[in-house]
This record gives sequence, structure tokens and C-alpha cells, in this order.
Amino acid sequence: MVRQTACQMEAGLVVEDATHDVRIQTIAGNVRQVLETIQQTTQRVGREAETVRLVAATKQMAAESVRRAYQAGIRFCGENRLQEAQTKMADLGDCPELAWHFIGRVQRRKIKSLVGRFVLIHSVESVEQAVEIDGRACEAGIIQSVLLEVNVGQEASKGGFSPADVLAALPVLDPMPHLQIQGLMMLPPWTPNPENARPYFRQLRKLAQDIKRMRLEHVRMNELSMGMTHDYPIAIEEGATIVRVGTGIFGPR
Ligand SMILES: *Cc1c(COP(=O)(O)O)cnc(C)c1O
Repeated sequence: MVRQTACQMEAGLVVEDATHDVRIQTIAGNVRQVLETIQQTTQRVGREAETVRLVAATKQMAAESVRRAYQAGIRFCGENRLQEAQTKMADLGDCPELAWHFIGRVQRRKIKSLVGRFVLIHSVESVEQAVEIDGRACEAGIIQSVLLEVNVGQEASKGGFSPADVLAALPVLDPMPHLQIQGLMMLPPWTPNPENARPYFRQLRKLAQDIKRMRLEHVRMNELSMGMTHDYPIAIEEGATIVRVGTGIFGPR
């Protein structure tokens, strides 16, 4: 509905917002289509569809749009900014099965508020951040699940551990009692042809295999968060267990 004043509504003026309705229809249809693509892609490479979780990337999307996605079956939202996420969490408090992931850059002074609020923090990019998360989780009496972000393309513009640094950091992170490392996350260098992202996805998967061979006591390497609207089918072919799709569900931001 278009926002109208109380005076207009009392006077009986009702303005239908056709564009808004179209968008709402589209969200449900888009969710179905993405789930179908996940189903077909996993089938093609001999995986079960349930091995891939769809996280809706909800940055800049209104709570009402997220609600539509929830009604169409979305159960995980990925947010990039704490404040925006907190507002939406409050607005969507009546969606009991909705769980929130943090996929944005982690800022040290926000960590206290991230811990416990997000079931999974995808984007831990330094030992310092991990230490802070472990400490805050300790205070809160919880174990915080995280992924380590890896800058596979070694781009200056992106965050994340370099592949060498993540291997060096893991023995330090492994004993932290309130930090549960579940796997790795990445954003490949942008390329118009998503096929060009494939080697980067493959590299992340290989890195996870190398880490598994380190036989660390607590670290798990069951999750690979990779693939967005542009390239998630290719990421799934290369072993993604979490895909983060924004535009493909909500349309352009
Ligand atoms: C926005 C965002 C996405 C989703 O991007 P789309 O291209 O809209 O699917 C995925 N991951 C991260 C970290 C993001 O910030």
C-alpha cells in the first residue's frame, strides 16, 4: 500500500500501488525459481538438494519484502550491517523459524552485538576478530558459530585471510572454547562470465580439504559459503553448502 495520511483514508481514498504488488508476487516466484535451480543443479552433480542452504541476502530490503520471502520458504537471512539487521529482526519477530546470518565486514566494536544475535558469522577475517568473538561468547555463555572468510582472489578491495594466513591461523583458533569454526566463506573476483569464478570456488574447496587433513581437534570444515545470484549454480557444482542470493530473490537494489 502507498502511504496515505489518516485524513485521506478517512475520506475513503484508497490508492492501489500496482508496482508494489508486482514486486511481492515476484519475490515468491523468485524464491521458487532459486530453489528449483538448487534442486536441478544438485541433482546434476549427484548431491542431495538438502546439502545446500539458501541464505537470502537482505541488505537494503524492507522487512515486508523479507516477510514475503519467508512466506515463500526462506528460513535464513544474511545481513551486512548490524543496525539494519536489528531493525528487521524486531519487525520480523513473528517469523519464528527465521534465522539470521551475518555476511558483512566485521567491525571490532560491533562484535559484542553480533555474538549470539546471528547463528552464523560468515566473515571472520583475522585472529584479532576471532579472539574478540570468543571472549564475548564466553561472557554470554554461548558458543558462536563462524566461518573464516578467505580472499582467494587476493584482491586489495576485499577482506578475508589470504589462503596462507588462514592455514597459519587455524592452530591458534582451534583451541578457543567459545568459537566454533564451521567452514570457509568467499567472494570471488567479479567477472561478467560466472564460469570464470569456478577456479576460485574450486580453490576454496581444496583449501577446506587441506584444513581437514590438519586434523585439528575442534575445527569443522563442513560449510562452504560461496555463490551469489550471478554464479551460485557454479558454486554448487564446486561444493557450496551455503549460497547467498539477494538480487535473484528481491530484484535489483
Ligand atoms: C549482497 C551480498 C550477496 C548477494 O548478492 P547478489 O548478487 O544480490 O545475489 C552475497 N554475499 C554478500 C557478502 C553480499 O554482501
